[in-house]
Amino acid sequence: MQREQTTHLNPRSPLVLDTRDLPRRPGAMRKVVRDVPAPESLGVEMIGVPVGATLDLDLRMESVSEGVLVSGTVTGPVEGECGRCLRTINDTVSVTVQELYAYPHSITDETTDEDEIGRVQGDLIDLEPAVRDAVVLALPTNPLCRDECPGLCPECGAHLDEVPADHSHQQVDARWAALAKLKTEE
Ligand SMILES: [Zn+2]
Ligand SMILES: [Zn+2]
Repeated sequence: MQREQTTHLNPRSPLVLDTRDLPRRPGAMRKVVRDVPAPESLGVEMIGVPVGATLDLDLRMESVSEGVLVSGTVTGPVEGECGRCLRTINDTVSVTVQELYAYPHSITDETTDEDEIGRVQGDLIDLEPAVRDAVVLALPTNPLCRDECPGLCPECGAHLDEVPADHSHQQVDARWAALAKLKTEE
């Protein structure tokens, strides 16, 4: 059998799906339910899925006339740092994926760019870009340990939720406060 195109995908890579079991008859369907280790840099600067953490794939591959439609959810743990108080954040991210991968020489293949719509490469589908995009979109760019996190005291760095509500450096700063008051009255 001659391959339509050479593939550089590794069929054993955790986010590469093998479509050989899926009949190329529109409507045919296969479930892909498995746990795989997360690839590197699945996230943004402050928060992301740790490399090697377990990603839970709950997907289905469906034959359509132009290719293979992959849909379902990907769930995994996320670890990050609160942008206000720098505490570690542990959370879970769950994203919905719905991507069409076009067969080589299908109309979709001929009329779209590869970065718009993925391709079935040989018998394989590289799910990683779609999962990465979905996870990055789902993560906050400024993660917080909780919405109302008060952050750190700008004077001493104490966690403001661990010190008395009247925590203040006013006494030390009394003279400065007086100066500041004079300044505003100028
Ligand atoms: Zn915080
Ligand atoms: Zn303080």
